This record gives sequence, structure tokens and C-alpha cells, in this order.
Amino acid sequence: MTTELRTIAYIAAAVLFILSLGGLSNQETARRGNLYGVLGMLLALLATAAHESFGGYGVLAAAAIPAAILGAILASRVQMTAMPQLVAILHSFVGAAAVLVGFATHLHAGGHDQGAVGELVAQGKAALEGAEHAVHLIEIYVGVCIGSLTFTGSVIAWGKLQGVITSKPLMLPARHFLNVLLLAGLAFMGFLFFDAPASGGAGWLLWATLVSGVLGVHLVMAIGGADMPVVVSMLNSYSGWAASAAGFMLGNDLLIITGALVGSSGAILSYIMCRGMNRSFLSVILGGFGTEGGVAPAPGAVGGEVRTIDAPATADLLRASRKVVIIPGYGMAVAQAQHSLAEITRLLRDRGVTVKFAIHPVAGRLPGHMNVLLAEANVPYDIVEEMEEINAHLPEYDVAMVIGANDIVNPSALDDPSSPIAGMPVLEVWKCGNVIVMKRGMASGYAGVDNPLFYRPNTLMLFGDAKKNVDAILAAIR
Ligand code: NDP
Repeated sequence: MTTELRTIAYIAAAVLFILSLGGLSNQETARRGNLYGVLGMLLALLATAAHESFGGYGVLAAAAIPAAILGAILASRVQMTAMPQLVAILHSFVGAAAVLVGFATHLHAGGHDQGAVGELVAQGKAALEGAEHAVHLIEIYVGVCIGSLTFTGSVIAWGKLQGVITSKPLMLPARHFLNVLLLAGLAFMGFLFFDAPASGGAGWLLWATLVSGVLGVHLVMAIGGADMPVVVSMLNSYSGWAASAAGFMLGNDLLIITGALVGSSGAILSYIMCRGMNRSFLSVILGGFGTEGGVAPAPGAVGGEVRTIDAPATADLLRASRKVVIIPGYGMAVAQAQHSLAEITRLLRDRGVTVKFAIHPVAGRLPGHMNVLLAEANVPYDIVEEMEEINAHLPEYDVAMVIGANDIVNPSALDDPSSPIAGMPVLEVWKCGNVIVMKRGMASGYAGVDNPLFYRPNTLMLFGDAKKNVDAILAAIR
């Protein structure tokens, strides 16, 4: 493939990626957006592999074919509720790739452009003189540091989301000082790396990898459960910048553009989520700087009388209501109750009951989680409202039906300044006439915080698996 043709293919792929992002920003066009992304990636891979000086087809096949099969198997098997873990671990691969590209570029004489096209491999490091050489070293150093931080941070995020690492924030004494020390160490090692003779510096690069890795672990360990969504999107952004850095090292324009698209869209998403959760953007990137994490009351410390209800009585209450708001959360996703819930919604609306769904920005385990499930169950988009839209109107509703949600309806976020989720906006369901909370027991949610909502005088607990209870309500309404 000629250089012109490859440039055209790269531009087309970049346009497809932009269209993909545009499509993914809306539920109705998301499927198309996904398709654009797949086509763009296919074009990018083909154009790169078809480069005239590309000779490693055996190696490419040996790496890409098993990886593609493994990826397809994992993606088709993964539960929607485990998606964030998958995304986190995929980010870690991007980080690791940036580190490996950095080392390969530095160790392989010639460096610039060699990984992508092999054109400059033979020219040796001497070809990169003066400013160009300095810029090249910066690309390598920054790329390796961001890559390593992304790798370890994403592995920790995976562990927290998978439940193998505690979701409680790790609050080391002098933790901010430790972060500053690690950053200063990186700056100093960077100086030594640039100052090393042309053939040296790999030792400093290795040290920088280790120190950035420790920084990644520490930054993510310091983030508490409820703030994890922001960390995942922040790591998404970092993985984009790591890919972009790899693009600079390899002299691959498309990788630079794609990485920048991922990096900036991830940063914008993190910013939007921080605003939605009333968190400081800087505080989250700096590992919870300015927050002391809060103290969760011991389980059971929030006490009071719990009143229960059964499915037939819930059905009666719903039928007798004028306005019902449904608040889905992680438990609805686990139980896969969305289809029966959509059916209940249809029956109630046929009877003249106004039904709305209220969506919290961090409900479930990934941004847009609830929207995806409701769309899958064909719940009409116009009855699905975001938290900011519906919160002020909740006092007008006769019944709030909370299905497998917990943290997102926890009043202590507003009432208790010492709570780990203090300041996070929540759906103020207790302002509705009656609140029915469907969950299996009294367990806390992802943030590990007790929920005083369960003890409010207008709350009724409907214990059991959400799917079983929703089916029972459906049968009673029919
Ligand atoms: P929570 O995790 O707060 O609560 C879910 C509740 O569902 C649990 O208390 C559990 O109680 C109940 N549950 C679990 N399984 C079932 C079942 N089969 N049937 C009925 N109930 C069930 O979820 P929310 O959606 O309220 O809040 C999301 C939390 O996750 C927030 O803290 C958010 O920050 C965090 N998070 C969100 C991400 C995102 O991007 N959206 C990513 C990472 C974390 P019980 O065991 O008693 O049944």
C-alpha cells in the first residue's frame, strides 16, 4: 500500500472513530456508533498491516488471531454487571502496551517510526539529533510513565470492582506527601534519563516504570467505593493518553489521533461524572486529595424499625397510585428484572398510572448501565428521566419503587457530613408518598454504607430476589 493510500485510510478511520463517539453519545444511535468504531479499527489494522515495509505477518498472526478469539469469547460471555471490570482490565493492557512500546523504541537503535513502519530502524539513534532526539526521549519517558500508572491503576480498579480488593479507600498517613515524593522522584529520574549517554538510560526508564506503577496503585487504592466510576473513566482517559504517547513513539498519526480522542472523551466523561456526583475533578485525579474518605458507620449502627410488604400488597399499592417512579440499581441488573419490570410498566400505564424511571448517573456498575438495560427491555425513552430532571418532582409521586438500588437513594449523603458518600447527590425518594425498597436483605451497597432510608416511616421493604418479586407483582397485577 502506498503512503498516500495509507494516509487516506488513516483519515477515513479517524473520521469513523469520531462518528463512533458521536453515535455512542445517544441511546438511539449507539448501535450505529459501535459499528463505525469496529469499521474504523478494521480499516486501521488493515492499512497498518498492508504497509510495504511490514514483514512480520507470522508474528502478527500469532499474536492477533489468538487475542481476537480470546477477546471475542470474553466479550460474549461477560455479564453486563461485570462490564466495568472488563473495561478496567482492557485499560491495563493499553497501559502495558505503552510501556512495552517505550522500552522497545528506546532499546532498539533508531527509535523513531521504527515500530510502525520500520523505515528508520537502520538509521540509528545518531539520526535523531538535537531537539528531535530530546523530543523523542520525552515521548518515551512520558509514554512509559503514563503507561505504567495506567497499568497498575487499572489492575487495582479491576480488583476493587471484582471484589478481590476492598472498596474502602486506603488512607495511608502522609499519603499526599507520598504522592508528591513519587512525582518528584519521577521528575528527577526523567532528568537523569535525558542526561544519560545515547545508548544508556534504560535503567532509569525501568526505575520510572516501577515508581509510576507504585503511584498508580496508591492513587487508585485511595479512592473509595462510590467514587470508583470516576476512576474508571479517568483510567479510560489515561489509557487514551498512553496510546497517544505510543503513537508519537511509533510515528503513527492514527494512533496519536485515536489516543487523543479516547483521552479527551474520557476526561470529559470524568468531569461530567464528577459534577454529577459533586466531587472535585482534581481531588479524584490526585487520589482523593482534600477528602479524608469519611467513616462508614459500623453495620447495624443505623437502627430503627423496618416495615415489610409482600408482592400482592405492592401490586395493590401500585394499582391504586396515580404516579409511580421506579428507581433501578445494581440489584436489578444482577437479577435481570428489567423485562418483567417493563411489562409491569406497560400494564400500569394502560390503567392510566403515570410511570417514570429515575436514573442516577452512577446507578449500577458502569455509566449508562441502567439506560442500556431499560432500552434492552424496550422501556420507552420518554419515560426515563435523569436524576436532575426528576428530583424536584419526587414529592408529586405516590410511590417510589426502588429495585436493587442502595447507595443512590441513601439520605446520609445529604444528612451526614461524616459519611463516605457525603455530598453525593442522590435520588430523594423519601419525599414520595411511599417508598418500596426491593432487595434480598439489609446488606449495604457498593460504598459499604448503611442506609437510613430503610428505617424511614414511609419505607416498606420487599425482601427477596428482585426478579422473583417483580414476577410476583406482575402476576398479581395481571
Ligand atoms: P448498590 O451497589 O449501592 O446497591 C445494590 C443493592 O442491590 C445491594 O444493596 C443489594 O442488596 C441489592 N441486590 C443485589 N442483588 C440483588 C438481587 N438479585 N435482587 C435484589 N436486590 C439485589 O447499587 P446502586 O445502583 O444503588 O449504586 C451503585 C454503586 O456502585 C454506587 O456506589 C456507585 O458509585 C458504584 N459504582 C458505580 C459504577 C458506575 O459506573 N455506575 C462503577 C463502579 C461503582 P442485598 O444484597 O441486600 O440484596
